[in-house]
Amino acid sequence: MKQWLLDILQCPICRNDKLSLKTIEVNGDEIVWGVILCDACKRWFPIINSIPHMLPDEFRKNEDKEFAERVSKLLEGITLELRPPRYKISDDIR
Ligand SMILES: [Zn+2]
Repeated sequence: MKQWLLDILQCPICRNDKLSLKTIEVNGDEIVWGVILCDACKRWFPIINSIPHMLPDEFRKNEDKEFAERVSKLLEGITLELRPPRYKISDDIR
C-alpha cells in the first residue's frame, strides 16, 4: 500500500481515523510489509504483500499468528497479541 492511504483508512473496530504505521519492508513508495496501529482501541492490522488487512476481530484468521511470528523481532518495543489482537508498547520506548 502507499503511505497516503493511511490518511483515508479507519479502524474497523472504533472508527478512529488517526492511525499509526510501522513499516517493516518498503519498495520505493510502496509499503510491502508493515503494521497499522490504532492508538484508540490498540488494535493492530497487518500489511501483507502490500495489502492492508483491516478486519474486525471476528474475521481475523490464522494469518495473524504467522504474521506476528514473522515480524515480532523486527518491531522494536511493540508486542502483537492475538486474542484480542491488541498491541503493547514496552515501557522503555514509551
Ligand atoms: Zn481502533
